[in-house]
Amino acid sequence: MKTKYRVVGGCVLCLSCVYECPVSAIIIIEDVSVKIDSEKCIGCGKCRDNCQNGAIQPEETGN
Ligand code: SF4
Ligand code: SF4
Repeated sequence: MKTKYRVVGGCVLCLSCVYECPVSAIIIIEDVSVKIDSEKCIGCGKCRDNCQNGAIQPEETGN
């Protein structure tokens, strides 16, 4: 099962994650934050690794 990631807050819209995502799964929401499309996301973690603000974290899956 792939790891799912979500934006937990503290996004400053630097767009690093948007540029790093290999499948273009991250979209900009009303110029204030970003959102991950869980259908497109392949769980690579690049967005989390490149976010300077810790704004992206894995979801708890219970597994
Ligand atoms: S890398 Fe982090 S701060 Fe930058 S746009 Fe993505 S979630 Fe926001
Ligand atoms: S985990 Fe990988 S595929 Fe999913 S949104 Fe982040 S960079 Fe994109």
